[in-house]
Amino acid sequence: MNVKTRFPPSPTGFLHIGSLRTVLYNYLHAKKNQGALVLRVEDTDQARLVDGAIESLIRTLDAVGIAYDEGPILLKDGTLSSKGEQGPYIQSERLEIYKEHAQRLLDEGHAYVCFCSKERLDQVRKEQQLAKLPTKYDRTCLKLGAEEVKERMGAGEPHVVRLKIPEGETTFQDEVRGSITINNSEIDDQVLVKTDGFPTYHLAVVVDDHLMGITHVIRGEEWISSVPKHIILYQAFGFPLPVFAHLPLILNPDRSKLSKRQGDVAVEDFLGKGYLPEALLNFVALLGFNPTGDREIYTLQELEESFELSKVNKGGAVFDQEKLRWMNGQYIKQTDTVRLVEITKQIGVGKEIDRVFMERIMDIEKDRLDVLINLQEQLPMYISQPDYNAELLVWKKADLTDAKTQLEGMRSFLEAQLDAFFEDRSLIEEGIKGYINDKELQNGNVLWPLRVALSGAGKSPGPFELLWVFGKQESIQRIKNALNKLS
Ligand code: GLU
Repeated sequence: MNVKTRFPPSPTGFLHIGSLRTVLYNYLHAKKNQGALVLRVEDTDQARLVDGAIESLIRTLDAVGIAYDEGPILLKDGTLSSKGEQGPYIQSERLEIYKEHAQRLLDEGHAYVCFCSKERLDQVRKEQQLAKLPTKYDRTCLKLGAEEVKERMGAGEPHVVRLKIPEGETTFQDEVRGSITINNSEIDDQVLVKTDGFPTYHLAVVVDDHLMGITHVIRGEEWISSVPKHIILYQAFGFPLPVFAHLPLILNPDRSKLSKRQGDVAVEDFLGKGYLPEALLNFVALLGFNPTGDREIYTLQELEESFELSKVNKGGAVFDQEKLRWMNGQYIKQTDTVRLVEITKQIGVGKEIDRVFMERIMDIEKDRLDVLINLQEQLPMYISQPDYNAELLVWKKADLTDAKTQLEGMRSFLEAQLDAFFEDRSLIEEGIKGYINDKELQNGNVLWPLRVALSGAGKSPGPFELLWVFGKQESIQRIKNALNKLS
């Protein structure tokens, strides 16, 4: 049978970094096995609908480069469509299907109608808590006769449909966690259809995973407690079971559970700060899996080739933002400058700066950058003459007079060069080093004041790079300004 995985988020309006790992592992498992990945939107909780959430989800998956084979897609004009033969892929468009399946369970005695009000259920729960009993539905409505149920439904009385959990125990095999057995007496008679006629997650997920031909259910550990209910449903329907794999929890460095708040964990926000998609994917891939155990940087291709569900860790994975920044920096260093500037402009950094000038800036800054948005802080020194104290121009083994002498020397040297000299970083370096040698000077005495004159900062890219970025006229202007400060 062909492998088919799925990613079925509830459209909350943003993609959680943990969900990025889930969809990536589903993608990797499908790729590794020449299978397919399905995107399905689980929007049956009408209270939690967010406008535009599906569109934004699709855009984010596209931005990180995760391609799925079936599911909703966004057309150029911004409207939703879909690809694949097993649609619709949006659950709110599948209500008839759930209704038929719920009816089948009712007809075959695997489910029953329940009229109990919220107040009554709260009361039952309270009493059970007082008696220190497990809190479960007390099956009052299971005793109702068929006639009475029909009558009350006919009269329009609000009701839900509940799964009748059979006696016995339920055992299943999880690819990550091994064999799990649970006594059915611990399982509540799960609501399958709500009073508004919408299915609950549990009914919809089982029906859809079956009808869409899903062979592997790979998702976060928080769903593992739902599996026994799902297995009982699979058995009631007579559906074959998929393979289950539950991924380890993602934790903060203090091992608390990772926040659900958008500001801390939204993939969109990471992209908006200039994290590169490939760095994000590489980073989340390692939250629970490492192909070789020690290396940190892997291409998507390498991950696709080496991914194994059986190698996924059981223990919680720590989401270490510092490591993510480091990894992003590694990717920035290797990434083509033109593409980096493209992204930087998209996130609103240096929009007003001429593209060629910006590319030069990026070229000399990218080795020091961890997140592209931080380039913003460096830009002022490139676009306007820097302000600083004259003392900053003094190399630690020298004084103001020496700084002045060296900068005057540099000014005459640079004034004598052709424009072409400033176009070539190795020419600049060789030229200035030659000058220092010929005059038997020390590097620090010349290069320190030169670098500060150009950047106005204690820390910056080196003087050769800065001369290349600024060119002849601007460089000499900056040196003159420094000389003014010194006189
Ligand atoms: N809709 C669920 C979610 O929001 C999907 C859980 C599952 O993968 O079964 O994550």
